[in-house]
Amino acid sequence: MPQHLTTLSQSSLQDYHDCPRRFELRYLQQLAYPAVEAEPALENEKHQQEGEYFHRLAQQYLIGIPAEQVGKLANTDNLQRWWENFVNAADLRGLRDLAGLYAESTLSAPLGKFRLVAKYDLIAVDKDKVTIYDWKTYRKRPKNEWMNIRWQTRVYRALLAKAGAHLNNGKPFAPEQIEMIYWFADFPAEPARFIYTPEQFKRDWDALTQLSAEITSTTTFPLTEDATRCNYCPYRSYCNRGIRAGDAADAELETETEELFNINFEQIGEIAF
Ligand code: SF4
Repeated sequence: MPQHLTTLSQSSLQDYHDCPRRFELRYLQQLAYPAVEAEPALENEKHQQEGEYFHRLAQQYLIGIPAEQVGKLANTDNLQRWWENFVNAADLRGLRDLAGLYAESTLSAPLGKFRLVAKYDLIAVDKDKVTIYDWKTYRKRPKNEWMNIRWQTRVYRALLAKAGAHLNNGKPFAPEQIEMIYWFADFPAEPARFIYTPEQFKRDWDALTQLSAEITSTTTFPLTEDATRCNYCPYRSYCNRGIRAGDAADAELETETEELFNINFEQIGEIAF
């Protein structure tokens, strides 16, 4: 394993799980994307940028900027619809009044030879309960079963239990205090909720520890046997797994990465839709 890889995240672990070769190309060889992930490419890119921008709008709102002011920045059809859904969502009502709101927070903890890192859209502490919120601008509402086994769902809850004590007066959150909610901007009345238990936490942390040890010691990164994963993969040309990109709505479920969240607000403000 090259020395430069010092962190693991839900995205890199998901890539390793989905296709070790993709993990190698993206995180070890750090190859830029040689092919479009999905068609139509331009529309897909615009949708991704709008998704990033929506996250910034939500953050601005949650740190206390008046809704009317933030709403003026929702300057495309998608953004307007998502914004309306967001401020009117029954499941998000009263959220801004909570004292313990941590928008766009990053947590990390040692994991084997790595640090496990996660950036949260929102961590909301309300008395003895803590809720992780994650905003999704997917065009399709994924099934709960699919989300339940994603590394994001497992990593975000486990890392909060492991490394969230500073958000709880120095005391670690117990797994049963934690819930994770995916809120879908295009399906505002159908959030996906995942509670947590001590057994799940143990299972997740053991699995993470095992996986980090495997990544440290392995020297082979085989291509996935499930060739349908290649339809949306930007590294298709490296693997002789086809040239044509897959459908965008399916791709966004399969290929979401944290790079989406690395652009700062000022930069996004300059993108013309
Ligand atoms: S094209 Fe297929 S085999 Fe190659 S990295 Fe992508 S998912 Fe893996």
